[in-house]
Amino acid sequence: MLQLVWFKRDLRTVDHEPLHAAASRGPVLPLYVVEPGLWEQPDASGRQWAFWRESLLSLRAELAALGQPLVVRQGQAVDVLGNLLRRHRVEMVWSHQETGNAWTFARDRDVAALLRQQGIAWHEARQHGIVRGRVDRDHWSKQWESLMRTPQFAAPRLSPVAGIEPGPIPEWPSPHLPHDDCPGRQPGGRIYAGQVLHSFLHARGERYHLEMSSPTSAATGCSRLSAHLASGTLSMREVVQATRARRASLRQEGASRGPTWARALAAFEGRLHWHCHFMQKLESEPRIEFENLQAATQPLRNSSPDPERLDAWINGRTGWPLVDACMRALAHTGWINFRMRAMLTSVASYQLWLHWREPGLHLARRFVDYEPGIHWSQLQMQSGTTGINTLRIYNPVKQSRDQDPHGVFIRTWVPELGPIETRWIHEPWLMPMPEQNRCGVVIGRDYPQPLVDHEAAARLARQRIQAIRRDATARTESHAIFKRHGSRKRAGQRRAASNRQADLFDDGAR
Ligand SMILES: Cc1cc2nc3c(=O)[nH]c(=O)nc-3n(C[C@H](O)[C@H](O)[C@H](O)COP(=O)(O)OP(=O)(O)OC[C@H]3O[C@@H](n4cnc5c(N)ncnc54)[C@H](O)[C@@H]3O)c2cc1C
Repeated sequence: MLQLVWFKRDLRTVDHEPLHAAASRGPVLPLYVVEPGLWEQPDASGRQWAFWRESLLSLRAELAALGQPLVVRQGQAVDVLGNLLRRHRVEMVWSHQETGNAWTFARDRDVAALLRQQGIAWHEARQHGIVRGRVDRDHWSKQWESLMRTPQFAAPRLSPVAGIEPGPIPEWPSPHLPHDDCPGRQPGGRIYAGQVLHSFLHARGERYHLEMSSPTSAATGCSRLSAHLASGTLSMREVVQATRARRASLRQEGASRGPTWARALAAFEGRLHWHCHFMQKLESEPRIEFENLQAATQPLRNSSPDPERLDAWINGRTGWPLVDACMRALAHTGWINFRMRAMLTSVASYQLWLHWREPGLHLARRFVDYEPGIHWSQLQMQSGTTGINTLRIYNPVKQSRDQDPHGVFIRTWVPELGPIETRWIHEPWLMPMPEQNRCGVVIGRDYPQPLVDHEAAARLARQRIQAIRRDATARTESHAIFKRHGSRKRAGQRRAASNRQADLFDDGAR
């Protein structure tokens, strides 16, 4: 009888527990289902598919080298599986648990019902450090650590399965998925994933903690592993163990390497922890894809955002040069660093007072590394709707001065500002008219005026959110949210250091 391994967001053969376990029981039918319904969701995009397709081609080659190529079918998972179960004698179905969006959650429920009806067991292994069925965060970190320390699963040998066509990997998953040119996108696939990890740990990563914040240095200074973790071409455990091995070898090399590498990789390892910390929030509370985590903040913003503001933000025409440069860079490359993602969200949520859902969908489509669990949790955190995080409203002008002091990034992505002198590049609307005429950039004609007075808008946003936070019911709700989702790391230290609500509930994730 066959063991059916259903690949989803885990497109690799190494450190793949379901594949390993299935192969130890008998011949394996490795399956990927290209689901048009998934690719028609409002958070899906052509750039994500392009990366995914390259990863599927790479997975097919990996599996073929082990003895049985990937079988690809297009359609609804429940229909495809039903069909295969009718034609082949399948003993068990194996996969990783998926912390996806509401659509994949519903699809998994349908598949579970089908398999129950057919009397076929479905084994789902843990993916990343997420724990299914958790009601709070007590001891969560210990569980994460113990999974990361467990040895990896080697890629198994597979016996070829007779009488089943591998099937083509389609060029496009649905006629309804719009084409989406992303010329600067990073390539998908296991070989690239390994190269990206190696170059980060052995060359690019030395100044990670110093280069991660500025958009000019982050593209090479950050690991760039996110899209590989989202598609599963690398497992989180592989990345954690490779990082620890590298840290150990650097320690052995001793002082000759200086302190920079040590600091860089310690900071990096912390981020790997956050990956799962944030995903766990969606796993534990899937409604946060749609609703504010803290119900008390629900009336804050109208769920249908002002279309003109949203449009200007999406198209990089807000009038704040760094914000517009980031949005245009993201359109071209499919990636932007954490601080700039936080700033883009903060500007949409506070200065422009847009509900996070529509901006969140736009960013999701732009990110090649879209990972629902991190994405929706971060969107809410940067919009002040979690009830447990310190309120951080990014000032787009201060960020511009701090992260792009000479305007290099701005001039690259907002070329119409190219002729402006550096002293005006962060606030071009302050340029005197004779200066505008001299350099040929007239604000309001060649580049927009800022949509609002960002300082006044930020002040108003802070007052509105703090008014809610002072409310007794909201504070009780915050305590319950913290119990369920808050990081337990350093909670004791924070309590000892301060009684302030904001500190007590800070996620330690800044
Ligand atoms: C509004 C918003 C939306 C985001 N959406 C996504 C998303 O859809 N997919 C995604 O992978 N990341 C998301 N992030 C988190 C973070 O910005 C990216 O993980 C990071 O920029 C990816 O680049 P990198 O792999 O070079 O990261 P590195 O800095 O090299 O970090 C290594 C890995 O650690 C994890 N990580 C780093 N920062 C964070 C963080 N703040 N929260 C959780 N995990 C983190 C990621 O897995 C990342 O690949 C979002 C952040 C914000 C503010």
